[in-house]
Amino acid sequence: DVTGTRGNDFEDYFLKRELLMGIFEAGFERPSPIQEESIPIALAGRDILARAKNGTGKTAAFVIPVLERVDPAKAAIQIVLLVPTRELALQTSQVCKDLGKHLGLEIMVSTGGTSLKDDILRLYNTVHILVATPGRLLDLANKGVAVLNQVVAVVMDEADKLLSPDFQALIEGLFEYLPPTRQILCYSATFPIKVKDFKDKFMRQPYEINLMEELTLKGVTQYYAFVEERQKVQCLNTLFAKLQINQSIIFCNSVNRVELLAKKITELGYSCFYIHAKMLQSHRNRVFHDFRNGACRNLVSSDLFTRGIDIPSVNVVINFDFPRSAETYLHRIGRSGRFGHLGLAVNLITFDDRFNLYKIEKDLETTIQPIPPSVNPELY
Ligand code: ADP
Ligand code: MG
Repeated sequence: DVTGTRGNDFEDYFLKRELLMGIFEAGFERPSPIQEESIPIALAGRDILARAKNGTGKTAAFVIPVLERVDPAKAAIQIVLLVPTRELALQTSQVCKDLGKHLGLEIMVSTGGTSLKDDILRLYNTVHILVATPGRLLDLANKGVAVLNQVVAVVMDEADKLLSPDFQALIEGLFEYLPPTRQILCYSATFPIKVKDFKDKFMRQPYEINLMEELTLKGVTQYYAFVEERQKVQCLNTLFAKLQINQSIIFCNSVNRVELLAKKITELGYSCFYIHAKMLQSHRNRVFHDFRNGACRNLVSSDLFTRGIDIPSVNVVINFDFPRSAETYLHRIGRSGRFGHLGLAVNLITFDDRFNLYKIEKDLETTIQPIPPSVNPELY
């Protein structure tokens, strides 16, 4: 059940009667939290940047307001719904058709992997709502077949995917065809790190909705140490000797390296567990459970372990291998904002990692400083 206990009803939005009928016939009784947050703002014409978990009803959160905005009497593409895959396009168009059942709208799906000629023929007829993947739509716009100058709203579902390098150029190309008055509605479940540029370039003071428990670097002091690959274990040994570790997690970039490092740490005389993606789930659960209960001070891990961990007694995280993306960095180091405990992150940086270090600092708008000879214990 996506709906929680809240105040609003679908009737409160003054939607067209035909739309309200479609909503109720789809079995929706009350708006879900993301719908409650989105619908009134979207109806007012404002840009939205929204983040909410999977399965919380994001589709209807944007489909309902755009259906309300379409004028069935006007023979023009008024709404563009952009999605990254054909499957999602079909699914989204079905939601439009179900909820908009009584509105008398023409809804068309256009994606790669289907006949371009068919799309061109279908666009000779009236289309009110176009659900598309960016590549195909840009193709149709370039050919002058999809006329987008009457578009009032553009939706980007799975927005962080659409704004990734795979799609970015296509999306920017598409915006050339859209009128400057277009409303933009962006939805995603994953952290929209890459959204900032797009937001600054195309959106107008979007209303930001965040129904996720956010990871934050607040309270985490971040250091780096420049090392050569072969000095890493020695460096780790020094850190163990110097830092006041309550519990630590040490990250490596591969399963092999996790096992190797765990062995070396044990040889150095420190207690250590390891956990990685190639272990049986039951084994992983046991290691995690025991570590959480304090059975061991150090845990060497691959990235399987990074999502959603928050073990209050871990005060030090060490990136033995520096992560390749800002997102991974955040998942390893970041803590969910609700728990405000302090922590220390130490990144071992080789010559090859240095550009990545600058990039991640910039992407996350954070600072990672060189590690001082002695670290203030009050910081963690
Ligand atoms: P998301 O995109 O956030 O992952 P979906 O939009 O796919 O989630 O919706 C998940 C499911 O919840 C769908 O089956 C949808 O029909 C259902 N749903 C959405 N809104 C409501 C609502 N207000 N009441 C009941 N069910 C809903
Ligand atoms: Mg969705």
